[in-house]
Amino acid sequence: MVTYENGSEPADYLRCFESDTFGCYPCAPADVREAFMESIKVFENNLPDLWRKGFRIWIVPQSTKVTDMPGCSGAGSECNDDRYRGLYLWNRRENRKLALIKEKDLKQRRNALKHEIGHAIWHLLLTNSDRGYLKKVYKREKRENPDRNRDYRMSNPGEFFADSLAYYHTFHTEPKVIEVREYVVEPFIFGTNAVHIREVMKEGSLEPTKKTLESLNPEMLSYLEEKERKGWKWR
Ligand SMILES: [Zn+2]
Repeated sequence: MVTYENGSEPADYLRCFESDTFGCYPCAPADVREAFMESIKVFENNLPDLWRKGFRIWIVPQSTKVTDMPGCSGAGSECNDDRYRGLYLWNRRENRKLALIKEKDLKQRRNALKHEIGHAIWHLLLTNSDRGYLKKVYKREKRENPDRNRDYRMSNPGEFFADSLAYYHTFHTEPKVIEVREYVVEPFIFGTNAVHIREVMKEGSLEPTKKTLESLNPEMLSYLEEKERKGWKWR
């Protein structure tokens, strides 16, 4: 059990998250610890608020199913599928806000945990007016770029925000190649003109990722830049 003390610095909360997460997975390999710390470090200024609001992060070990994690049997068996890298859960009865991240994805996709933390920020730190503004930005984006609407990030305003935030942070912290999830529409004639959607992983470098974010949505980029200028204070 990790306790918070008054007057603690943001860096102390890094240690709170670290000891809580690895208290649940003490035999985690060193590269998993390294990827975890690297991902949460970029949110250092947000960690005190997230911690105080009851947000915690659990790693799902490679040999464990999401639904076998303590208290997560109701998550839905589709979450065990490889397509899910992680998820954000709010157990209202226990008032527990939890990001689950799969060990493999934590190591291989450096923006996977950042994306789940983005969901926590959306739910716990953004104000109604922030969310209202971002919903408008999302709707405009959908209208103006209908060809991108099948992207996972365009599923809903929360995914749009979480993905944008993850890419934003990944650009700043990782001058390496990452994978970008894209959907490819294949013409598929089956009696009528149906289309079959195939999901592929495409490699892209970080520079184009930021350009993509910018060209897809300059308003989202300005919003995130403004928050960063204010030290990521959401309210
Ligand atoms: Zn998501």
